[in-house]
Amino acid sequence: MSVFRLTRVGLAVSALFLFSAQLPISVAGNRKIGTGAIGSGTINRNTTTAASTRAVSLALVGGTLIDGNGGVPLKNSVILIDGERIVAVGQVGSLAIPAGVTVVSTEGMHVLPGLWDMHVHLMLVGHGNYAYWDRVYPAEIGRTIIPAAAKQNLMAGVTSVRDLGAPLDEVLDVKRRIARGELQGATIYTSGPFLQHESYPGTERFRWSINGVIDARAKVKRLADAGVDVIKLIDQDLMTMEEVRAIVDEAHKHKLPVVAHAHRPEELRRGLAAGVDDFEHTGMQAAPSYPEELMVQLRDRTAQGARGPLYWTPTIDVLTNFTARRDDDEYLDDPRWYQFLPDSIARDVRRSLNALDTLAYYRLVPDRGPTLQQKFRQLRESGVRMLIGTDAGVPANFHGYATAEEMVTWVRAYNMNPMETIRAATYWPALAMGVLDRVGTVSVGKTADIIAVRGNPLTSMEVIRNVELVVQKGRRVR
Ligand SMILES: [Zn+2]
Repeated sequence: MSVFRLTRVGLAVSALFLFSAQLPISVAGNRKIGTGAIGSGTINRNTTTAASTRAVSLALVGGTLIDGNGGVPLKNSVILIDGERIVAVGQVGSLAIPAGVTVVSTEGMHVLPGLWDMHVHLMLVGHGNYAYWDRVYPAEIGRTIIPAAAKQNLMAGVTSVRDLGAPLDEVLDVKRRIARGELQGATIYTSGPFLQHESYPGTERFRWSINGVIDARAKVKRLADAGVDVIKLIDQDLMTMEEVRAIVDEAHKHKLPVVAHAHRPEELRRGLAAGVDDFEHTGMQAAPSYPEELMVQLRDRTAQGARGPLYWTPTIDVLTNFTARRDDDEYLDDPRWYQFLPDSIARDVRRSLNALDTLAYYRLVPDRGPTLQQKFRQLRESGVRMLIGTDAGVPANFHGYATAEEMVTWVRAYNMNPMETIRAATYWPALAMGVLDRVGTVSVGKTADIIAVRGNPLTSMEVIRNVELVVQKGRRVR
């Protein structure tokens, strides 16, 4: 279908548009939007007034839409956007494009909701030495690092990130500047500082120690009042069980989900006992599998429908491919990972990656590698709802393309269904963060966070590495 022909429908369209703009309500729930739907009389629920005053600022036309809901993709799609919002979704030939609207052709592309990365560290950009980083760059975190990392994500099609561990004021400040449109970057959902038994020396600004139940509740309240979106627990096996319960209970009182590390068996046990909402990483270090006793508990939890899904962000690509990347100079030299960073910082990070295999962070990776297949399979079988997340920011794991790599690895190394993989980066993250009514799918009424890739991610997930079009809140940013 030629886009040129479409755009020339021109003047005749405005009258038609009054009509077609009423489509969204029927379109939203019904994929059959050919002439049958138009003639079927199902489109009278919208008011003419609303339709006639509705402007359209941008139209994405021609590509196949994978909308995030998991159904059959919509060929020859038309997405009409007014300001920040999607006002109509339909097909070429049945949903008209108003005259004078900016039309972007998505022919040859697949169109998807903006991606989410559910586990990033915006205060880190891949440097190999945490102690050095924390000592040298505190003043740059809010000024340059977090903004650059957020922009790297956005330009790769990651329109939303969940940041799990950062200094509170800095990350909230950048979050708000992006939300107000003062900075260009992925929409940030953040935990602010980790909550843990005792912060490691020199990390007190982004790791808060917990000392007793009263302190636990007070710190959660302080974070909630400041405006975080989620609470992050780590080393909860070193806390008292009462502290863990107090954190989870207080967070839930403030309607905040709780995300917990699950590297060690006791972290998982306590997290489950306290009722956390989401576990992170593919854990258990070099142990060959999750112990059966924990699997029983996991299955018991995921069988309780009323409590909602138990989420799990395996961040498995970084473990799966670390060894290959360590030896791949082109991966380490790819300019995409240091774009938007000051030169001096980029050079400093690159220098730090010359001896990757000596990093304590990755010491156990070779031993963990052979266990990952079994653990990923166990997690899938347990009924947890897995989410795309990357741990981007940790040594040699870069914002922007880590997300695509995680998606490719799920499909290629762990045989995950491509549609499920896409939904794990769109629909489910939005639900997990309680914002599915506003984002997470390409649907009428939602915020227009939309990307397009050349090729078909359902048959070649690799195409997600090169996102050609990025629309955030209705504005084309790439
Ligand atoms: Zn992490």
